[in-house]
Amino acid sequence: MTHDQVKPRIKPTLPVYRVSDHVYIQLPGKCVELSDADGGVGLFVGLLDGTRTVPEVQRDLRAAGRELTREEVDAAIEEFDRAGLIEDGAVAPGLDGHSLERWKRNLGFFENYSSLATSKYTLQRKLRDYRVVLLGLGGVGSHMLFDLVGLGARDIRVVDFDTVELSNLNRQILYRESDIGRPKIEVATERILAYDPLVKLDARSTYIGCADEALAVVEGRDLVLSAVDMPKMQVVNWINQACVTAGATLITGGVDSRRIAYYTMIPGVTGCVECWKADVAEHDRLSADLSVKKTEWAEATPDEPRFPEDMSAFGALVTLYTAHVQAEVVRLATGIAPPLSQGRLMEAYFDDAVPRESERWSRRPDCPVCAHVPTAPAFAARATA
Ligand SMILES: [Zn+2]
Repeated sequence: MTHDQVKPRIKPTLPVYRVSDHVYIQLPGKCVELSDADGGVGLFVGLLDGTRTVPEVQRDLRAAGRELTREEVDAAIEEFDRAGLIEDGAVAPGLDGHSLERWKRNLGFFENYSSLATSKYTLQRKLRDYRVVLLGLGGVGSHMLFDLVGLGARDIRVVDFDTVELSNLNRQILYRESDIGRPKIEVATERILAYDPLVKLDARSTYIGCADEALAVVEGRDLVLSAVDMPKMQVVNWINQACVTAGATLITGGVDSRRIAYYTMIPGVTGCVECWKADVAEHDRLSADLSVKKTEWAEATPDEPRFPEDMSAFGALVTLYTAHVQAEVVRLATGIAPPLSQGRLMEAYFDDAVPRESERWSRRPDCPVCAHVPTAPAFAARATA
């Protein structure tokens, strides 16, 4: 393979050391050691500054008295590329100066996944253009909204119907005491547009009360982040159905007293929530019976209060949850890695914070909700320039 147009550059975030007869290039958690008794490697590395094409690198090596064939130079470039050391300095960022500065540290992170074929700028642009809807602006939702905007997501729909209460303020970071009594959607809009005025924020003051309303808020979105749990036993079914219909990926879960739990449903790739329930029905009779009985109870007595107030919502766990889900959003939007929680419930307890698989399920050919969706390829790297 030859690279006539690319201008290889040692990634700017990687420290390069020349010590006696070796060159060291430091990667996160490891170091590449290159023997350089005659100085040729140091010369080569110095030429990889993003200003030269590969033929120009060969030309300048020759000018310095190093006679390498084009094949030898190409092979060395490819070896550096496979080792994750270089990117293409010829790629235009496709981002204006303000964005480059605002997301400068993100771009440094994306260098971990860039190569001659994959631009860190492309990864950031994919995140910017990802169409997300966030359902609920409570503890998880208010953290997630800030996090999404900090990451650089610019096309966000938010849905909430609640007002700010004093007991929200142990974790719901968007709000202040002076906001008590105000609609969360209104306060969140103010705070987020102050944080990044360029966000296209579609704020909807809506209570999701049926399947059609769920579909109305998820339509046209790539990703649904659901942080709503009312009405219990029903809303997850409506949102699952809506995501399958709309072809949107769903990440949901939450903070459950002293544990976090979350999963990712991708229509056509993973099983849906209905598949999961059917799987539980086959393998866990007690949970399945309880689920059916609770649903019957909820439908028979819609006005009767039946669940105790959620008394536990701890900031450290909310932050832990949103950190995990934020990382899943980045994996999904950019394609740099498959989401950890696709088709399985991941959990972590406060006590050690280690994420573990709790449950796993597959698509069911008899699923009444998702069986008709054509099978999509499982995760395929979309991180191309
Ligand atoms: Zn299904």
